[in-house]
Amino acid sequence: MARYLDSACRLCRREGLKLFLKGQRCYTEKCAIERRAYAPGQHGQNRTKQSGYGVGLREKQKVKRLYGLLEKQFRINFQKASRKKGITGEVVLQQLEQRLDNMVYRMGFCSSRAEARQFVLHGHFLVNNKKVTIPSYLLNPGDEVVVCEKSRQNAKIVQNLEEIERRGVPTWVELNKPAFLARLKTLPAREELTLPMQEQLIVEFYSKSMT
Ligand code: SF4
Repeated sequence: MARYLDSACRLCRREGLKLFLKGQRCYTEKCAIERRAYAPGQHGQNRTKQSGYGVGLREKQKVKRLYGLLEKQFRINFQKASRKKGITGEVVLQQLEQRLDNMVYRMGFCSSRAEARQFVLHGHFLVNNKKVTIPSYLLNPGDEVVVCEKSRQNAKIVQNLEEIERRGVPTWVELNKPAFLARLKTLPAREELTLPMQEQLIVEFYSKSMT
C-alpha cells in the first residue's frame, strides 16, 4: 500500500494551515507553521495569484492531507458520497469522519491520524467487541471502540489518553478513559467541524475534472 513518506510539516506549510499531522509536537512552539508560515521550497515566499482550478485543487489537497488519504482513496470516497442522498460536500466530510483511523484519533487513543492508522493496522482496537484492522472501516452512531486488553499497557496509548484534555474530545464522542472505551454518539454536524474547509470547492473541482 502506497504511503506519503516526506515531511508532514511541509504539507501544513503548503496549505498555510495547521493540519495537526504530528501529534503532540503540533501544540508546541516547534511547530513548523509557527516558525515558517510560508509555503516550502525556493519560491515559497513569492506571492502567486491562483486560478479557479488552483483554488479548488488546494482545497481538495488540504482536506485529503488532513485526513491522511492518498488521491485514489480520496476520489473513491468522493464517488461514494456523490451516490448518496444529501449535500455531496457534507457527505464527503461525514464519511471521512466515520473512518476508524479518524475516530480513534478523535477519541483520544492516538495523537495523530497517522499514528491512529498504524495502531488500527496493528490490531489495538475492537469495534463492537470484534477486532478491526481496516483504517477505512466506517463507524456508525452507537458503535463502540475499545482498546484491546493487552494494548492497555501500551505507553503511547496511555500517554495519549492522559494528554487528551489539551486537544479535547469532540461533542459527538463519549469517552470513558478508565475503561479505555469510547462511543460514537452521532455523526458530527457540519458546523461542528471547525477547521476551515470549503467542501463545495472540492465538489466543483471533481465535477470539472471527471467530465
Ligand atoms: Fe503541521 Fe504539526 Fe508540523 Fe505544525 S508540527 S506544521 S501542525 S504537522
